[in-house]
Amino acid sequence: MDHLDKLEAQSVYILREAYREFKSLCMLWSIGKDSTVMLWLARKAFFGHVPIPLVHVDTHYKIPEMIEYRDRLALEWNLNMIYGENREALERKLTFPDGNTDRLTCCKYLKSEALKHTLSGEWPRYRMDHELKHYVQDEGKEPYTGVIAGVRADEEGSRSKERYFSPRDKDNVWDVGDQPPEFWNQFKTDFAPGTHVRIHPLLDWTELNIWEYIEREKISVVSLYFNQGKGIRYRSLGCYPCTNPVESEARTLPEIIDELRSGKFSNIAERSGRAQDSEDGGGLETLRRDGYM
Ligand code: SF4
Repeated sequence: MDHLDKLEAQSVYILREAYREFKSLCMLWSIGKDSTVMLWLARKAFFGHVPIPLVHVDTHYKIPEMIEYRDRLALEWNLNMIYGENREALERKLTFPDGNTDRLTCCKYLKSEALKHTLSGEWPRYRMDHELKHYVQDEGKEPYTGVIAGVRADEEGSRSKERYFSPRDKDNVWDVGDQPPEFWNQFKTDFAPGTHVRIHPLLDWTELNIWEYIEREKISVVSLYFNQGKGIRYRSLGCYPCTNPVESEARTLPEIIDELRSGKFSNIAERSGRAQDSEDGGGLETLRRDGYM
């Protein structure tokens, strides 16, 4: 087995453990490269079918190509695709792009609060209807208490403190100092009833591993990751008012991999183009303790 095989096997194992242990389970899909690899791994883990609802938090400020990609794959792969949103904040224009909040408050409303209430079932969820080929309001209101997320330890500081199976309280709040140890791949999966648990199958993958795997498996990703002739590309995707591309000539997967191996970005954080991180002291710990992905 090479290194990618080992990472794949470990992630598939975590996904199957999660499916076995948590009855009310969902998987977050941000549409970025990491959670798309995780979705690919889920298809492998369950032999082409994904038996877990996919949840996307739609801020309505995502780059439009991301949403087109989400809906195309949802139909092609027959995914149980759900999105949630903070309708009230959007209608009242309580957002950074509307000029009425700072970025951290906007992320708290459009991401953390929307995620919390979508997972709990308190706010409307919209599910892809595969016959109608568009979203309809979902009847189901069951809370999701097991939440699979595609975070990687090397992506930014707060994520390096995560566990594979990481408990949150009922409000999604993360107590970083109180997490179970995970020695020798022994994972704690029995939590008190009602405990909200985040599951992180990609914790050991690096940015380079992700791109090597995308190339090996021929996974399609959003074209914004590639230089399309202007000498720029996105390293990390998010809301268009807060996400900036990096200078890069990489037009293909091998060129992205060469660029990462060259060390060009070794001193530049992967999420350096995400403006909300710098407003959170250079990391995301404040937002992530409060439930952010
Ligand atoms: S990334 Fe920007 S637009 Fe998106 S929720 Fe955060 S502040 Fe608002």
